[in-house]
Amino acid sequence: MADGARMGAKSKRILVTGGSGLVGRAIEQVVKEGAGQAEEEWIFLSSKDADLTDAAETKAVFDRYQPTHVIHLAAMVGGLFRNMKYNLDFWRKNVHINDNVLHSAHEHGVTKVISCLSTCIFPDKTTYPVDETMIHNGPPHSSNFGYSYAKRMIDIQNRAYSEQHGRMFTAVIPTNVFGMHDNFNIEDGHVLPGLIHKTYLAQRNGTSLAVWGSGNPRRQFIFSLDLARLFIWVLREYKEIEPIILSVGEEDEVSIKEAAESIVAAMGFKGELVFDTSKSDGQYKKTASNSKLRKYLPDFKFTPFSQAVKETCDWFVANSDQARK
Ligand code: NAP
Ligand code: GDP
Repeated sequence: MADGARMGAKSKRILVTGGSGLVGRAIEQVVKEGAGQAEEEWIFLSSKDADLTDAAETKAVFDRYQPTHVIHLAAMVGGLFRNMKYNLDFWRKNVHINDNVLHSAHEHGVTKVISCLSTCIFPDKTTYPVDETMIHNGPPHSSNFGYSYAKRMIDIQNRAYSEQHGRMFTAVIPTNVFGMHDNFNIEDGHVLPGLIHKTYLAQRNGTSLAVWGSGNPRRQFIFSLDLARLFIWVLREYKEIEPIILSVGEEDEVSIKEAAESIVAAMGFKGELVFDTSKSDGQYKKTASNSKLRKYLPDFKFTPFSQAVKETCDWFVANSDQARK
């Protein structure tokens, strides 16, 4: 993926790890559509360019591209059910990837690194809304403790690189992300791509749509293109080591049932919705405050949820052969 990158004399060379995933592809699209600046050269990596769990491969890719800035997205990622099965793998792979990327960035004198946490890493037992000061206050939800603790350690490492070496390594905390190029695998993926794929199949086969769990848990969903625009703002403007939550407002939180109904409306599905309560609900909610973001960007406009769901469903139907599933 990175082979097309030009090694020119631009003053900012931005290396995006995980550049072939949901968020990476969204950043690439936003840059291509004009958000990139003349002095910026963008390099989007996939696991084919380097296995970042391997220290030598990570160092080699940094040697090759000599980035001045890093957006670090690469991770083992999955929905609730993949997390429940593979807590050990989520912990080990992500700890290795994060340590390799942050240490290579340090050794190569990278000016700024932005890593990606997630609102699922907040304490399970907490008051709501959660905010940036509460990340380490108590154990995360048991369903994804491997992923959550690995992500929390990025924040620890960022603080330590700052204190010991004066590095500007920071992190963002998005809520549930969705959009084009997501992982639409039903067993492994997140709820929206999973339900979009299941609705597509139910429509084609004339069957009902199985929504897992009770449909009552609540989530704040952020469209990948909105997140991409916010990432670019963080890259250029955000100067704190402390992370920042990137989220729609608390009032935009929806239930899983409402999210499923949005997909049904977007795809014109006429069949029945069946709630399979033999499946886990996972964390009931993780309502996050976007007050810090709103202090910086009071006028940022998020894409309305129903519009973003429609765009994602249309993309999946048009690209169902090539989509990750
Ligand atoms: P994704 O679509 O699954 O993409 C994962 C990316 O990581 C891919 O580019 C993948 O490369 C790369 N990768 C995985 N293992 C790797 C390895 N060993 N070496 C090198 N690259 C590797 O994930 P995403 O949803 O875009 O997530 C991006 C970031 O956002 C992650 O840090 C994730 O934790 C965070 N996040 C995601 C969500 C969400 O709802 N999706 C919510 C909050 C935070 P290949 O394509 O080559 O496999
Ligand atoms: P989470 O937000 O980290 O918990 O992860 P997910 O994106 O996987 O969302 C999980 C929530 O969606 C749980 O309440 C599940 O019961 C519910 N859900 C309903 N249908 C599905 C589905 O088809 N796939 C997934 N992953 N979750 C589903």
